[in-house]
Amino acid sequence: MAQKEEITERNVRFRNQLAALGKGEILEKEPLCKHTSFDIGGPADFFIRPRTEQEMVAVVRLTRACGLPLMVIGRGTNLLVADGGVRGVVLDLSLACRQLEVCSGGVLVGAAVSIKELLDFCLCRELGGLEFMAGIPGSLGGAIRVNAGAWGKSIGELVDVVRGYDFPGQAISLESSRLHFCYRQSNLAEDVIITEAELMLSPALSEVIKKQMEEFQRRRLSQPWDQKSAGSVFKNPPGATAGKLIEESGCKGLRIGGAEVSLKHANFIINRGGATASEVKELIEKVQGKVKRRFGVKLETEILLVGEE
Ligand SMILES: Cc1cc2nc3c(=O)[nH]c(=O)nc-3n(C[C@H](O)[C@H](O)[C@H](O)COP(=O)(O)OP(=O)(O)OC[C@H]3O[C@@H](n4cnc5c(N)ncnc54)[C@H](O)[C@@H]3O)c2cc1C
Repeated sequence: MAQKEEITERNVRFRNQLAALGKGEILEKEPLCKHTSFDIGGPADFFIRPRTEQEMVAVVRLTRACGLPLMVIGRGTNLLVADGGVRGVVLDLSLACRQLEVCSGGVLVGAAVSIKELLDFCLCRELGGLEFMAGIPGSLGGAIRVNAGAWGKSIGELVDVVRGYDFPGQAISLESSRLHFCYRQSNLAEDVIITEAELMLSPALSEVIKKQMEEFQRRRLSQPWDQKSAGSVFKNPPGATAGKLIEESGCKGLRIGGAEVSLKHANFIINRGGATASEVKELIEKVQGKVKRRFGVKLETEILLVGEE
């Protein structure tokens, strides 16, 4: 009870000081289902969209000073947000970090730029290297954070510099020698807010880039890309593919409430309408149990579970 009162008090203090700062778009109790590709997720106490990087830094510092937790959201395409939502501040950089320009050796890209926009830009400028990312629906910031990739390649291989802020609001710049990426992971500290990155690309003919992107897109036809999901639910375990293990464990089409293991691709859970995060979670555990019993393999989730149940 006392803890709840303390949280409310902190939120009130934050709200008042934020109003005085007047920084960006501020929404309270914003349903996060509106900001995730799964169309699932409870409310964020504060959902803030700063208009500039300076505004963002002011919001980050105030959040810290008021003792509230902070989470950055990109396009919400790799997230399962719990039904109870997210306490504290959810920071959306979609208005603030939109820079996209050619730099020496490649491109300088703002964290909020979508992978699609980035690929279109690279095609126009005849810069190759990112074609394998075609069809990944997130933002650059989210892609770097989770080291997104496909077909044996990932974005971390192309990152030269990452710039951003830590949670106290200090600017940071990390060069490739200090960055480590592995399968759907980076060594970026949890509190790092990515604002931009430089990617190393090579000159290439636009026809070649286009053809490769089309080929990578074509391979995605086996996935339920037009349904509400958060992409692959599980990481591939060493030497196997999660989808195959799930299918061979008889999980395709399993359903709990509005959540269903896709009939098209077993490593996707889709929201057939009105699914809750707890239904998806229950289905995840059911699939994990079946695969474990059949193959003795514990599948790890690739989608990120955030928030309070
Ligand atoms: C149909 C479909 C297909 C997909 N296919 C693939 C695929 O082939 N390969 C793949 O890797 N993924 C795939 N995904 C998952 C997802 O699109 C990627 O992981 C994407 O890179 C996530 O980016 P996002 O902007 O949506 O991040 P979010 O889902 O919003 O966030 C993901 C994580 O990144 C953090 N984050 C976001 N922005 C920032 C920032 N600026 N600074 C610091 N942290 C940040 C968040 O806090 C969170 O921890 C797919 C998803 C869907 C729906």
